[in-house]
Amino acid sequence: MIKILLFILLVFFVITFLWVAAFHAFYRAAVDTYQSRPGFNPKVKAPESMVGCAHCGTYVPASECIHRSNRTYCSQEHADRERMTQPV
Ligand SMILES: [Zn+2]
Repeated sequence: MIKILLFILLVFFVITFLWVAAFHAFYRAAVDTYQSRPGFNPKVKAPESMVGCAHCGTYVPASECIHRSNRTYCSQEHADRERMTQPV
């Protein structure tokens, strides 16, 4: 009886090992496929905050906006327009 239990235990461990090995191989293949696709860039920038333009309200990434007088603008043109419309 103990031989049968040991055999079942051995089969269980072999199946578990093969299952984990197959999953690991599948995972590695999926990661390699993902990383080798055209356009994949591992140095993609992290998401950044968006800020609204004080002139038109369009949201642009914070790194691309124009700062002027504690306000943010989507473009140089809108920053200049806002300056012309503000009273001095
Ligand atoms: Zn704007």
